[in-house]
Amino acid sequence: MILTIGWMYHDIMNLYGDKGNIMVLKKRCEDRGIDVRISYCDIGDDVDLSAMDLVFFGGGADKEQSSLMRDLLSRKENIQKALDAGVMFLLICGGYQLFGQYYIDANGNRIDALGIFDYYTVSGKSEERCIGNIAVRCELEGQSMTLVGFENHGGQTYDVATPLGDVLFGHGNTAQKKQEGFYNGQVIGTYLHGPLLPRNPEFADFVIMKSLRKSYGEQCLEPLSDDMELAAKNIMLKRMELL
Ligand code: GLN
Repeated sequence: MILTIGWMYHDIMNLYGDKGNIMVLKKRCEDRGIDVRISYCDIGDDVDLSAMDLVFFGGGADKEQSSLMRDLLSRKENIQKALDAGVMFLLICGGYQLFGQYYIDANGNRIDALGIFDYYTVSGKSEERCIGNIAVRCELEGQSMTLVGFENHGGQTYDVATPLGDVLFGHGNTAQKKQEGFYNGQVIGTYLHGPLLPRNPEFADFVIMKSLRKSYGEQCLEPLSDDMELAAKNIMLKRMELL
């Protein structure tokens, strides 16, 4: 089996080591004999995202987000084609925001986003900046899990019809500390850097399983030893007084 990943703007959207997510996907696939092929989709690159199994888009500051907007908007049709073809999407922070209606940045500039989903993001007052460790409780297709990560965003995301989970610690979509992220069965949007997948191996496998479905149907993944990962995760849960 081969898992193909379209990595959007890998050179500019890589806050807090978001590229660690790709390294984890690669390692966890290869440990199970699944090859991983990465196609870089940077500004100006000719890539058909609908041919991928998974599209990954990391986070970035306001300046980076504005710098790629023209290119991103030119890919809207292709992104829609990828969604229609059943490609899985994993979007972190700045990437997550840009799939909504718009983003009003810290200077009050309105960035018209892809408009694929109804949610929208507005930079809050400086005291509303959401920074620090975060833990989120998720129910994902019958699987319960607690995700840990790190968030740092001024943007407050509203009108999220289907959040990824409930905030146990930290902020999430808004400074009100209620829900975190977005998940509609195909697209995951989340404020969790951390990076997300090294800290949450069960979630990494969930993403792999969902991504393999397009080309290979339902797959059972061989379990891996996650002792180190889970020990690290437990340290974070203890720090947040959740364990
Ligand atoms: N610039 C955005 C914000 O501050 C996204 C930041 C990020 O990706 N961490 O809301």
